[in-house]
Amino acid sequence: MAGLSIRERLRTSLARTREKLRLGSGGGVEPDWDALEESLILADLGLPATTEILERVRARGGFPASLREELLGVIRAPSQAEVGAMVPPKVTLVAGVNGVGKTTTVAKLARRHVELDRRVVIIAADTFRAAAQEQLELWSKRVGASIFAGEPGRDPASVVHDGLTSSVSRRADEVIIDTAGRLHTKRPLMEELGKVERIAGRVVAGAPHEALLVMDAAVGTNGLVQAREFAAALRLTGVVLTKMDGTAKGGVVVAVSKELGLPVRYTGIGEGMQDLIPFDAEAFVDALLSN
Ligand code: GDP
Ligand code: MG
Repeated sequence: MAGLSIRERLRTSLARTREKLRLGSGGGVEPDWDALEESLILADLGLPATTEILERVRARGGFPASLREELLGVIRAPSQAEVGAMVPPKVTLVAGVNGVGKTTTVAKLARRHVELDRRVVIIAADTFRAAAQEQLELWSKRVGASIFAGEPGRDPASVVHDGLTSSVSRRADEVIIDTAGRLHTKRPLMEELGKVERIAGRVVAGAPHEALLVMDAAVGTNGLVQAREFAAALRLTGVVLTKMDGTAKGGVVVAVSKELGLPVRYTGIGEGMQDLIPFDAEAFVDALLSN
C-alpha cells in the first residue's frame, strides 16, 4: 500500500470492519438500536464497550455525531506511560503470543528509527526457533539495524543482558527486544518475560522504557484473555495491533482501550516494512465511520 497517504492506507485496511458497521441513515434519524448493537459486536468492539457506548449515545441523542465522540472517548482514555528524562539507549520490549507478528513489528519499528538516523540494535531473544533469528537477521540487514542474537536454546534473559551491555558500549540510541511466544524451558513464559524485564532494568536505568504487547487484530477480542496475562506479568506501556488489513475485527481497538486500559500505539496493516502506522485515535474513528 505504498504511495497512499496514511489516512488512505488506514481507511483501506478498515474496509471490512466498516462493512460490519451498519449505522443506518444517520442525519438526526433514530438508529435501529438493536441492529447497531449487533453491528458493533460484529466489528469486535467487545460487549462492555458496546454496551457503555450505546447507553451514552442513547442518553445524549445526536446520533451519529455522538457515536463518534463516545468512541473517541473510550479510545483516548488510556493514558500513555511517561518516558521520563533518560540516557540512551531507549529500550523497547516486544511481547505477545506466537504468530501475532512480533518479529515483523520489531523490524518495522527498527526501520522507523533508522530512518530518523538513530543507531538501532535489535536483540533477538526468541531463542525457541532458529528460524526466528534468521528471519530477524535478514530484516535487520534490510532495514539497516544491528542485531544481537542469542544461540538457540539459550536463556532469553541472559541474551538480553549481554545484548544490552553490548548496545550500551556501541552507543545505540534505540534497542528493540524481540521475544518468544513460547519457550524451551519448563518455566512459564510469563515468568521468563518478567525476568527479562528485571534484567533489562539492571543493565539500563529505567529499561524497558516501552513494553509493547503485540496482538493480532484478526483474533480480535478472543485475544484479550491472554493479553491480561501479559499485562499481569509486565509493565506494559501499549499495544500494537497487527493484521488490521483484511480483518473485519478492527473494532478490537476499542475493546483493547476499554478492557485492557492500554493505549494502542501502532497498527500493522500489511507484511511490508512500511506497513506499520502510529495510532491516531481520530483518524481511526473517522476511517471506521466514514462511508
Ligand atoms: P511472531 O511469531 O509473533 O514473531 O510473528 P511474525 O512476525 O513471525 O509474523 C507471523 C506472520 O504474520 C508473518 O507471515 C508476517 O508476515 C505476518 N504479519 C505480521 N504483521 C502483519 C500485518 O500487519 N499484516 C499482515 N497481513 N500480516 C502480518
Ligand atoms: Mg517471532
